Amino acid sequence: MIPIPDRVRRLAVYEPGRPIEEVARQFGVSSADEIVKLASNENALGPSPRALRAIREAARRVHVYPDGGSFYLRDALARRFGVPSSCVAVGHGSNELIALLAHAFLEPGDSIVMSECAFIVYRLVADLFGARTIATPMRGWTHDLDAMAAAIEPRTKMVFVANPNNPTGTMVGAAEIERLVRRARPDVLLVLDEAYIELLPPERAPDTIRYVREGRPVVVLRTFSKTYGLAGLRVGYAIAPAEVVEALNRVRQPFNVNSIAQAAALAALEDEAHVERTRRMVAAGLQQWERGCRRLGLETVPSVANFLLVKVGAGRAVFEALQRRRVIVRPMDGYGLPEYVRVTVGTRRENAIALRELAAVIADGVSG
Ligand SMILES: *Cc1c(COP(=O)(O)O)cnc(C)c1O
Repeated sequence: MIPIPDRVRRLAVYEPGRPIEEVARQFGVSSADEIVKLASNENALGPSPRALRAIREAARRVHVYPDGGSFYLRDALARRFGVPSSCVAVGHGSNELIALLAHAFLEPGDSIVMSECAFIVYRLVADLFGARTIATPMRGWTHDLDAMAAAIEPRTKMVFVANPNNPTGTMVGAAEIERLVRRARPDVLLVLDEAYIELLPPERAPDTIRYVREGRPVVVLRTFSKTYGLAGLRVGYAIAPAEVVEALNRVRQPFNVNSIAQAAALAALEDEAHVERTRRMVAAGLQQWERGCRRLGLETVPSVANFLLVKVGAGRAVFEALQRRRVIVRPMDGYGLPEYVRVTVGTRRENAIALRELAAVIADGVSG
């Protein structure tokens, strides 16, 4: 018997959205097309057509190693955001960047600060490096940044703020972030995880990259997985002080972002039309969901992202019943919200199917 160290055995396992193929196998459905997946906040419009062309082109060169420094992608991001490319790191999804931050900055006995109902990966990664998670209560459905600032203790190394937050879909404004930036100790990294920020009209998105330009200890994380529709390729990036980027480069593997992902991300970044179409689809879909839920007598949490929380009663049971009806959503008991499911905004047709099946599940009395 191979002994598994306690440190590893004790780690919680992330529960991802169920893959379409797995659900299809489980329920004996022959075509994945018959399943509606609204579980992982992917872009229902798919990837940008420009990214698809870049992928086909890059595929011809997969026999050579990628550029380990992701030169062109980092350069394009640097120019887009008005920072030197020494302030840009790219990763195998922003999830990898979260893990690399922990790898570089957390020692056993350190701590991180996050909100109780924020993206669970922060806590999992802190556990991995033997760091403690200080989780502060939310105020209503948003982060209480003052409580987070007050929770910082001597061994706190990082504060994680998902904005907009997953799974609540809510956001904190520029003034509140400003207050947190001013209040936090200069040796504590403020990690602003902006995975959904491109869904906001640009004038409503807080300008946080400015803090990096000002030399503040701020890391802005973004991803190509959501609005840009490239979740399967795994590319995310960090805009951060150059010394933080340098530390991330030391702890990462040399070829952490593959060549197809680099080419696709570069093309997607330039496809503003696809981003605009996505914004419109999401805005219309949120309305469709809010109206549909109101008709069913279900409360929702007002969202600015491409997903929303729906209060269904017995969340896990509704998730399972919907899955039997070929609709995948996300149960929220893992986030301490057992009465809710999280639903990703899909296409108009996907939303309509999911709402119809949700109505049937409720009529069956599953919501308890
Ligand atoms: C989806 C998501 C991510 C990241 O995803 P990657 O696919 O790893 O880039 C990061 N943070 C939040 C809050 C998310 O919801």
